[in-house]
Amino acid sequence: MRNRTTPRALLAASAAALALTGLTACGDDEPSSASAGKLDVVAAFYPLQFVTERVGGDAVSVTNLVKPGAEPHDLELNPDQVAQLTDAKFVVYLKGFQPAVDEAVTQQASGKALDVTTAVPLLDATADAHEGEEEGEHAEEETGGKDPHVWLDPTRLATIGDAVAKRLGETDPDRAADYTARAATLRSDLEKLDKEYADGLRTCKLREIVTSHSAFGYLADRYDLEQIGITGLTPEDEPSPQRLAEVADEAREHKATTIFFETLVSPKVAETIAKEVGAQTAVLDPLEGLQPGSTDDYFSVMRKNLGTLRTALGCS
Ligand SMILES: [Zn+2]
Repeated sequence: MRNRTTPRALLAASAAALALTGLTACGDDEPSSASAGKLDVVAAFYPLQFVTERVGGDAVSVTNLVKPGAEPHDLELNPDQVAQLTDAKFVVYLKGFQPAVDEAVTQQASGKALDVTTAVPLLDATADAHEGEEEGEHAEEETGGKDPHVWLDPTRLATIGDAVAKRLGETDPDRAADYTARAATLRSDLEKLDKEYADGLRTCKLREIVTSHSAFGYLADRYDLEQIGITGLTPEDEPSPQRLAEVADEAREHKATTIFFETLVSPKVAETIAKEVGAQTAVLDPLEGLQPGSTDDYFSVMRKNLGTLRTALGCS
């Protein structure tokens, strides 16, 4: 709206006598401008928002369904959000991660939605994630035993960026070349990050990471680490006393220096185990969302995570 009124407002200023009528009438018959031409896109949670904004640039306006500071696994949609999905020109989501989004897409947006697992097939949950999961049977149902946390491997996220560019280009063919070019830039930035991780985690005293929920399977897969998840694939699962004892045993056996917790989930369980085995705690952020008011983005959080891992694992 602001951009749309500008030419008329200038015109009105130069013709002072007509200023009032000119201003009140403005905008009604104005052809579409830069802001009016933006494509409305809905992203199901932060990493998909990040990718879509990078690939879409100023041609898109992206709404994240998850509010800052909220945990995306158990997202419930209100009627306004369902309406946003219905009205959007393009929806990007990860099937199997947020059941409420899967259902709303099926009912309201199936023809214009990209399920990113069609670009990046999901891996089976690791044995450790399954162990944790027995406590929360619904987790298994939601994900079909697949691990949804695919964005923690930068190379897989680059492939998602290419898929987003392709679909945006089909939706908005005039700007298809721009989307492709931005996805290529994003890929090269993500490949640089991937190299930093590969180099930074090549030579370490430890390779086991004890994590709050089992979100780091793809990171572990990519950089040859072993994840010991306290809970399963979803953070709300309460670990059993037996699971806590097993994790403490594993942490001791591998001489873990650090038990990792997350920004959006209570650190209590991680602190309990850390105390029991005499380890420290530190944040390893699974990037499921940002904190309210955060100035971080995917790259800054991933680089903080790398620094935290290098310290905890004794990497040289
Ligand atoms: Zn998760």
